[in-house]
Amino acid sequence: MKYLIPLLFVLITACQGNQNQPEDWAIAIHGGAGNMDRANFSDEDILHYKAALSEALDIGKKALNGGQSAVDVVELVVKNLEDNPLFNAGKGAVFTNDGRNELDAAIMDGSNLNAGAVAGIGDIRNPIGAARLVMDQSPHVLLIGKGASLYASQNGIEMVDSSYFFTEKRWQLLQRTLQKAGKNGTVGCVALDKKGNLAAATSTGGMNNKRYGRVGDVPIIGAGTYANNHTCAVSATGHGEYYIRYTVAHDISALMEYKELSIQEAARLVVNGKLSNDAGNGGVIAVDKQGNVVLEMNSTGMFRGWAKASGDEGVAIFK
Ligand code: ASP
Repeated sequence: MKYLIPLLFVLITACQGNQNQPEDWAIAIHGGAGNMDRANFSDEDILHYKAALSEALDIGKKALNGGQSAVDVVELVVKNLEDNPLFNAGKGAVFTNDGRNELDAAIMDGSNLNAGAVAGIGDIRNPIGAARLVMDQSPHVLLIGKGASLYASQNGIEMVDSSYFFTEKRWQLLQRTLQKAGKNGTVGCVALDKKGNLAAATSTGGMNNKRYGRVGDVPIIGAGTYANNHTCAVSATGHGEYYIRYTVAHDISALMEYKELSIQEAARLVVNGKLSNDAGNGGVIAVDKQGNVVLEMNSTGMFRGWAKASGDEGVAIFK
């Protein structure tokens, strides 16, 4: 019964078909989702966030237009977002309950299903670069903690002192959260390149006030990050425990593969059907091989941006 409304929507829109022209390339980004109240943002905050999203999007657009591969582009864009303290990834990562920074990241190449991820990182400037290293150069998919850091440092990845991740804003957030509810945020990018390849990358500081050692959905392939040329590329943001339980990113791909749903139908069914009936407040960005872009959320806001070769583009925050 609880899936009835999303299923009806799916059936109606499935009958309408998808008449869009395929795009030469397409990209979508996110900078985290959650229940955001416009009243809590000053006009200046909004300008800062939108400028940051536009900057990351421009980097991706130029690279895709210049013929770079989807996997290179998602890494490049997520690195830019990681370096921006506005977002909960890289420099702006939130703190664990005991005052550490533990970062997770993952990347996946839809052309060959190769994937790389790192978790529990406290000393790598750009965890997405380490995830790429794991994908390209190791026989593994996921490395964690000290082992991941050692592997990264031995292979020329830029290491930082843990103090690099200290930002006053996140520290104060932890202090406030220790008294009340938590807050989340993450960055991600999905892309379709000119050769028709898809890729996804996601990076996060995890959930504010999380327990030391907790790993979320982001580095779990199929939960927070997934890409497959036959279906779509997905990057998620939200309460990671639910995204792991529902294998959100892979579920969207599987609905497309086995039930032949469109990317919009699949994302809506998972994010606003399955997840929203339980919890997992957040959203996903996704792109398919025709360049259809989806920015689906079950929260009141998601920092997001999209661009397509045909010129359709934008950045947005609230629903
Ligand atoms: N999904 C992330 C995690 O649970 C947090 C977020 O996206 O806000 O670690």
